Parts: sequence; structure tokens; C-alpha cells
Amino acid sequence: MANAKTVSREWGALASDAPLTAQQIEEKARGLLTQMTLTDKIGQMSGDQSFILGGLGMLRGYNRTWMSGGENKRLNIPGIRFTDGPRGVAMGHSTCFPVSMARGATWDPELEARVGDAMGVEARAQGANFFGGVCINLLRHPAWGRAQETYGEDPFLLGEMGAALLRGVQRHVMACVKHYALNSMEDMRFKVNVRVGERTLREIYLPHFRRCVDQGVAAVMSAYNQVNGAYCGENRRLLRKILKEEWAFAGFVISDFVWGIYNAERAANAGLDLEMPFKRHYHRNLKGLVEQGKVPLAAIDQAVMRLLRRKIQFAQVGEPERYTREALASEAHRALAREVGYKSIVLLKNDPVDGAPVLPIDRARVKRIALIGKLADQPNIGDNGSSRVHPPYVVTPRQGIENAIGNSALAFDDGSQIARAAASAQPADVAIVVCGCTSRDEGENMGPGKGGDRALLTLHAHDEALIQAVARLNPKTVVVLIGGSAFVTEAWRQQVPAILMAWYPGMEGGNALADILFGKANPSAKLPCVFPKSDSQLAFFDRKAREIEYGYYHGYRLMDKQGKEPAFPFGFGLSYTTFQFANLQVDATSDPIRISVEVKNTGDCAGDEVVQLYIGYDGSSVDRPVKELKGFARVTLAPAEVKEVNFALPMNQLAYYDTVRKGWVVEPIRYRAYVGSSSAARDLLQADWEWKPL
Ligand code: BGC
Repeated sequence: MANAKTVSREWGALASDAPLTAQQIEEKARGLLTQMTLTDKIGQMSGDQSFILGGLGMLRGYNRTWMSGGENKRLNIPGIRFTDGPRGVAMGHSTCFPVSMARGATWDPELEARVGDAMGVEARAQGANFFGGVCINLLRHPAWGRAQETYGEDPFLLGEMGAALLRGVQRHVMACVKHYALNSMEDMRFKVNVRVGERTLREIYLPHFRRCVDQGVAAVMSAYNQVNGAYCGENRRLLRKILKEEWAFAGFVISDFVWGIYNAERAANAGLDLEMPFKRHYHRNLKGLVEQGKVPLAAIDQAVMRLLRRKIQFAQVGEPERYTREALASEAHRALAREVGYKSIVLLKNDPVDGAPVLPIDRARVKRIALIGKLADQPNIGDNGSSRVHPPYVVTPRQGIENAIGNSALAFDDGSQIARAAASAQPADVAIVVCGCTSRDEGENMGPGKGGDRALLTLHAHDEALIQAVARLNPKTVVVLIGGSAFVTEAWRQQVPAILMAWYPGMEGGNALADILFGKANPSAKLPCVFPKSDSQLAFFDRKAREIEYGYYHGYRLMDKQGKEPAFPFGFGLSYTTFQFANLQVDATSDPIRISVEVKNTGDCAGDEVVQLYIGYDGSSVDRPVKELKGFARVTLAPAEVKEVNFALPMNQLAYYDTVRKGWVVEPIRYRAYVGSSSAARDLLQADWEWKPL
């Protein structure tokens, strides 16, 4: 609980000397509402800066300071003070963590909550009270430019990771989950109309938002795109019906920035509570609309109450002694960034050469290392859009390797001339090629050549040729991939013995990579999205589409259904040790269903395994996926150690959405639990059970 004196400065009239009950918060909010004129109320619902001045400020440095909405000086009510994420706090020299997609690969909600805690502290230390960086849009297709900002392709994983981040953040500031909903195309984000059927909406695209609402998220940000013909910020069905009425969301809805809404009447009636970040449609039009009876005053009052309640609630939250300048990129936060880094790097391949796996690199035997590729030697922490973070430094792969082993054993070549680079690799004991994407290839679309949806799922042709040439001359070639989502690796995958997916690994990325390469850390990450053999295995994607249908199937669900074999499955990732699963048991005699399995470390070093639970359906009256992720747990095991892992699966997790009855239905059919180390059938044990009424 915050110290009353400190918070009173930040929170003005919303601060209280003692913790308030829900009832007292309600009374306080109502008391303030009764003191407000209509203009005051509309002020609560609007960004504080003018379009022109605010716009000029943005051009000077987007997101470099917090942006305020709903400040009322007369009543001493501070606005929300918005700062962005999700790879860190966008303001100041904050810690830059690995991007969300990397963090999705940790499958570690407790770690993610620690990341959230650090971000919450750094946001508040810089005067913000609202963190806009809980992005949980579903990765329908890996070409999505902003893939790096989210946690992967699966609604369950997205929900658990998003809920964990906001749990941590909300110890300090309000968090906002975004972009609600179906925002997973970048180039056409302002225009595209996403058509979606009810079952697909409920089962695939909304569960993770619901999960974050149930976790108590303070706010929800609407998306730019349209869903079924209405812009998300003006979408009554999404905002008022589903989010507020059905899910009983008690927080407020804010618009995505500047182009989040087009019409004040439609937005206010749909349930959009706060237009950010400028005085635009609401400021200009809401008063007249209320006076003309086109927007009921009750709708305005409800919006203001939602905003006030959350602000009063969060005026009581915090640990003021932690909100110091020293907290920014502090030693503890940098150590956390490194830990997340090595826990997010996925070991995709590690074949033996000369009788031993290439990784980890054994320093006693390996005297010369060739490090190749310009991405090995440049800071590369992700895109330059709204999620950009400005850390005090970035450890590149080259620096990280030098920090670990010095530079006498290392020969670096930027790879620009393929023959030269390959020749430099030939005499080395191991060659490491670092390649992939930068902010030019993918990211929030900041103009031509600056992000946007990915044009290629493969590496650039030059990088593919470089890998092939190096691998021809050095059989111990390790490829390190940098990027925000899946790559198609067919042109060279079989030619190299070892592959690591490092994502955009953050300010400590080079050190984290070295931890993995030299075995200081044992890889434990798992893919949060499937790596296909070609785009023909994926859902249809058209970066230019103004109209698109999002079907029920994408990612591993689609490949399972069509019997297609990916290059690397969802949930896949190797370790330097090996694990064995045994004794899968299901007890479905009560709710939650109890599922247990034994996991044994069968190798010779300690390691973590992410145990995954999928559920399949047999005999359903509707079309259902072969299997869906419904649980996961990370376990740490010493060599030869065995642990039992237990899942408690709520019965309602078996349900499908019945579009006729307009509700969730658990059918009396056979269910199958699949438990193991990835979504591939070969990695899973199975156990069936018959549904019986309890
Ligand atoms: C992005 C949001 C972001 C906002 C504020 C928008 O362009 O879509 O994700 O939170 O800007 O920076």
C-alpha cells in the first residue's frame, strides 16, 4: 500500500489517507461526478493535448514522455498518464527486455509477472500512472508486422502471459490490454474490415482478452481495424455487449491513438470511454451530441464513473520507495532482462557432428570461432514504432560472446561478401552465423521501408546463400535467427547442424545468447508459434487486404487438421539434456479434472522442461480442432530426477461456443488429454476419458 503523503502529490483529490473499500471508492467517484459540469465530464473522456501541439510534440520524439488524458485542474483530478511498451517502458532510458514474442517462448508466467513488476516500477518512477504495453493480439500469420509485440498464436498462452504481465504492472500503475480485437495485420490496420464468425470470435480471438479482464486489467484499448463492418473503437457489440455486459468488465476502454475513432456519437454510444491522446472528436462534438439527445447523459456518466473508479483504485497502489531514477535499467532489472533472454532463446536443432552435439560450445576443445553476419555486430532490439524502448546500452551478439570468452578466439566477418565470410569460417572449430530481420523488415508501420508486415517469411536471399556457403566449408555451423516470429528455413535447414531462435533479445541479448552458446544456461524455451515449411501451410494472408475473413483455423490447429507437418511445431524446443514422460493419468470424476504425468531428466545436466497439456475431442457434434493447448507448467529437474506434474483443468475448458444457444457447451463425448514436450504427436502421451455427468 502506498504511503499517503507520496501518492497525494501524484493523485491529487483521488488520494486517500487510508485504503478504501469498493463501496468507498464508489462513493468518492460519485461525489466527484456530482461536482462536474458536462464540460468537465467530457474532459475526463478526452486526451488533454490539442491535435496540433500534441502532434508537434510527437514529431519531436514519439512516446518520449507520458501523454495525459482526462486531467481536471479545477477538481484536482490528474489524468491518466500513458506510457507505452511492451518490450519495456518507452520513456527515458528504461530497461529493454526481450520482445513479447520472445517472452511468449519462455512459457513462464511467473517470470513474466516479474517483468511486469519491473516495467510498472520504471513507468511510475518516470511519472506515468498507466502502462499501455499489454499486447495480446493473436498471431494469426507470422507475416504480421507487429508479431514481436505479442506472445504467440495460441489464445491460452496469450491469456496466461498477458495476465501475468498485467499482474506485475498493476502493483504499481494501471495496465491496458490491447488491441481489442482481431488486430493482426499492420499495413492496412486503419482500413481493413476483418470478418469473423461467432464461434471463431469466441473460441479463438477473444478468450485471452477475457482472461485479462478476469485478472482485473484496468483498461482495454480498442483496435484500429474494423470487425464485421464497424471500427473497433465504435463497435457496440465488442465494447458494450461482450466486454462490458457479458464479461462484466469494470474498467474503462481507451481508443488506440489518433485514428482510433472517427465519429463521437458512434464511439460514445458503443462504449468507448476515453479518446486518446488528443482533444478531437469527443472534445469537439460530445457536448452538442448530448444536448441534441444523440448521446444519453447516462452514457457519459457511466464512462466518467468507470474512469474515476479505476483512478481512485490505483491511487492506493504502489511501493513509493521503489520509484526512483535509479530504478531505471537498474542492475536487478538488467539481470532480469538477461534471465528472460536466455530463457527465451529456442534451441531448434542440435545434431551431433563428430560424435557430439555442436552446442553448447566446449571451450576446452573449441579454440577458434568464426562469427559471421552484420546482425552479430549491431544493436537490434526490435522495431521503431510505439513499442520502441531507449535503453542505456545494447549488448550485441558479438559483445556478448566477447564478454564470455574474450576476443582472441573470435574472428568476426560481417558477411557482406559471401566468399570471404565462408573462407573465414573454414579454419574455425565452430562457425556462428547471425541473421534475420530488423526494424526495416517488420514492425509497426512507420512509413516506407520502416517496418510494416513482412514481405518474406524466409531469410533474405543473401543470408540464405551466406549460410549455405559457410555450412559447405564448416560442418559445425550454428545459425542464430533474429526476428519477431516464424521463419521458413527450408533452403538451408538440413545443411546446418544447429539452429537457435533468439527473437529480438533485448538490451542484454548478446550476454543471454552467450550464456546459451557456451552452456552457462541450458535452453528451455519453446516456440509460441509454428514454424512452417512454406506459407502454403498457413492461413491466408494478404497485407493489402481491405476485407479479410478470419477463419476458425490457423497455426498448429490448421496444420493438425490438414495433417501437415511443420518444420518446427508449436511448443517445440530442445534442451542440452533430455526428458522422458511417463504415467499419464486422468481423473475426470470431479471438476476440475485432475491430470498428472511424470517427467524425468534422462540426460546429464540440469534443465527445465515445459510440460504442455492439449485436449482433443472425439465424437463432437461440431467441427473441432484435433487438439488445443489448455495448460502448461515449467519444471526444473536435476539429472535423473523425476517429478510429477499436475494440472487442474476446469471442466468449462472443454466447451465449444454454441452459436444457436449463444453460450458455451460441454458435450457428453470422449475427450483426450495429450501431454508432452511439444504439440507434435511424437512428443505427446495420450489418455482418453468419457464425459460423465457429475
Ligand atoms: C499503437 C498502440 C500504441 C499507441 C500509443 C498506436 O499507434 O497502435 O499500440 O499504444 O500508438 O503509442
